[in-house]
Amino acid sequence: MGATLDALHALQVVERRLGALRSKIDAKKRRVRAAKRAVDKQNLLISEKQAAGKACQMEFDGIDLDVKSREEEMAKHRDALNKAKTNKEYAAILTTINTEKADNAKLESRQLELMTILEAQKAETDTLIEERERLEKKVAATEKDLADTEAACAGDLAKLTAEREVAAQGIDPSILTTFDRVAERHEGEAMAEIVAVNIKRNEYCCGWCNMSLTLEQVIAAETRDEIQNCSSCGIILYHAKSSASA
Ligand SMILES: [Zn+2]
Repeated sequence: MGATLDALHALQVVERRLGALRSKIDAKKRRVRAAKRAVDKQNLLISEKQAAGKACQMEFDGIDLDVKSREEEMAKHRDALNKAKTNKEYAAILTTINTEKADNAKLESRQLELMTILEAQKAETDTLIEERERLEKKVAATEKDLADTEAACAGDLAKLTAEREVAAQGIDPSILTTFDRVAERHEGEAMAEIVAVNIKRNEYCCGWCNMSLTLEQVIAAETRDEIQNCSSCGIILYHAKSSASA
């Protein structure tokens, strides 16, 4: 392994530590996002429940108006009843009044039903709001945990970022581009060790994908200071024995 591959390997070591640090912070960020989503979901449930409550209240108020106007009509009819001149007229007005009474009784019993529903909705809304308080506390706790982790990692992050800069210095930019591109395709890992399966029989495989490597590839990775990609997965190959310096 030549100077370039050595430098890339040193870079990979720093990258791996940086990656571990970042994924630790990312995991905390995901927890904050999940906690916030739970609050959003709860807010949705609360607003749905409140909208249902509002609809019930509107129906209740509408019935109130309806009952009042029917009562006014009934008062007029009672007046008319007293002034009825014939039995037939009297009977007809009485039938109307009775129908109005029956209608109002129906409306009033619907109002009673609505009151029961409204009470239940109020209790359910209160429970949902209580639960939201608990969820909001969880958001605050995860946010604090994230802030604490970020603060605790800040030093290491700055140190490793500086180390990464040093490690990248002197590496040809086009090689660095290849390195980053390969890392992107392999969960942040740009390089993999060449694994000796059977040295006597010259059998080697890629440490990333386990596919066998040709002897030509193995020798090239050992003798030439240039990038050798695994022909199966594309990862940059290196010999572990010659990377002791890194
Ligand atoms: Zn491979």
